[in-house]
Amino acid sequence: MIQSILKEKIHKDGPLRLDQFIDLALYHPEFGYYRTTHPVGKEGDFVTSPEICSLFGELIGLFFLDYWEQSGSPAQVKLIELGPGKGTLTKDILTAFKRRPQIFEGLTVHLVEVSESLTALQKSLLKDFPCVHWHPSLEDVPTGFSFIVGNEFFDALPIRQFLFKSKWMEQYISIEKDQGHFCFTEKGTESPFAAAPEIPDQIIETSDATLVYADMIGKRLKKDGGIGLFIDYGAEKTPWVGDSLQAMKRHQYVDLLAEPGEADITHHVDFFSLKQQFQKYDLATFGTIPQSQFLTNLGIELRAQQMSRYLPPEAFKNLQLAIFRLISPEFMGQLFKVFAVAKNINLTPAGFNGPTS
Ligand code: SAH
Repeated sequence: MIQSILKEKIHKDGPLRLDQFIDLALYHPEFGYYRTTHPVGKEGDFVTSPEICSLFGELIGLFFLDYWEQSGSPAQVKLIELGPGKGTLTKDILTAFKRRPQIFEGLTVHLVEVSESLTALQKSLLKDFPCVHWHPSLEDVPTGFSFIVGNEFFDALPIRQFLFKSKWMEQYISIEKDQGHFCFTEKGTESPFAAAPEIPDQIIETSDATLVYADMIGKRLKKDGGIGLFIDYGAEKTPWVGDSLQAMKRHQYVDLLAEPGEADITHHVDFFSLKQQFQKYDLATFGTIPQSQFLTNLGIELRAQQMSRYLPPEAFKNLQLAIFRLISPEFMGQLFKVFAVAKNINLTPAGFNGPTS
């Protein structure tokens, strides 16, 4: 259905800029991928860390609890998750919070989600926790000292791609004449950003949507304090050169243009630009560090050893396998990066080795 809407639009208005194409394919109010499917989990198109092992979310819960205590245990706290998928991460964070029941006295939970079907899943998973609210955007969440978390949130936001071919070109989507399939096309444009390197035939990616979100997070943390923790695949390099766009369906990479609306479309997160955006607000940034280092620093292996005392052998074996997937460099340990941003420059959050310059 979304495919005919996209085609009609291209026939009417001409080629569609890549970020607008992704935006419609993923977020069209009625037929977008995130509105119509249950993408996360074994039965979906991709599996994420919170779905692999509950220790992931529990350790993040302890990370926030530690930060809360080190900040003098503020009476009012907002836990905000961006793009919560099935709601598992928030559930595991709240489970860990039970170790310090006092935090619940002033805690409200805010899930920022665009998908109605995922919202329904989150509501059912979190039904036993009071004070959970849903919002279409971070802008709608009331202000206050906040813990903001996003796992695989930024990779889902639309990107633009630029190419230098003796002049700057930008990637658009058109329809190929013979078969009527979607195809890439380029249009002349301005340089994507000041001093963008003119490297012939190399793709440079930018994400306006990511910077808009970073601004919202930055303003909120600057005003009311708290910390943001973001985990995603990507790297910290400048300039950001290379084509990282990918589409995934049923755990396999597929052609991005073959079935828009039927597959997830993601990219590798440009942590360098994200960090630069936060630094505009004079915030302290921590990391990026590999997911393996973060989880190991937080004691994931030690926790597993403790659990070996009461878990049946089969369950313990499964736990070890799950931890291996999270921290092994062959799986998610190296590609996935962890990054934090906070108002307080003097407080190093657990798991990190100190602020980055
Ligand atoms: N964090 C979850 C899910 C990751 S998938 C996990 O780790 O399992 C991306 C999530 O972000 C989905 O819940 C999707 O609906 C949501 N999402 C994508 N774009 C969004 C946006 N602009 N605003 C709010 N939520 C968004």
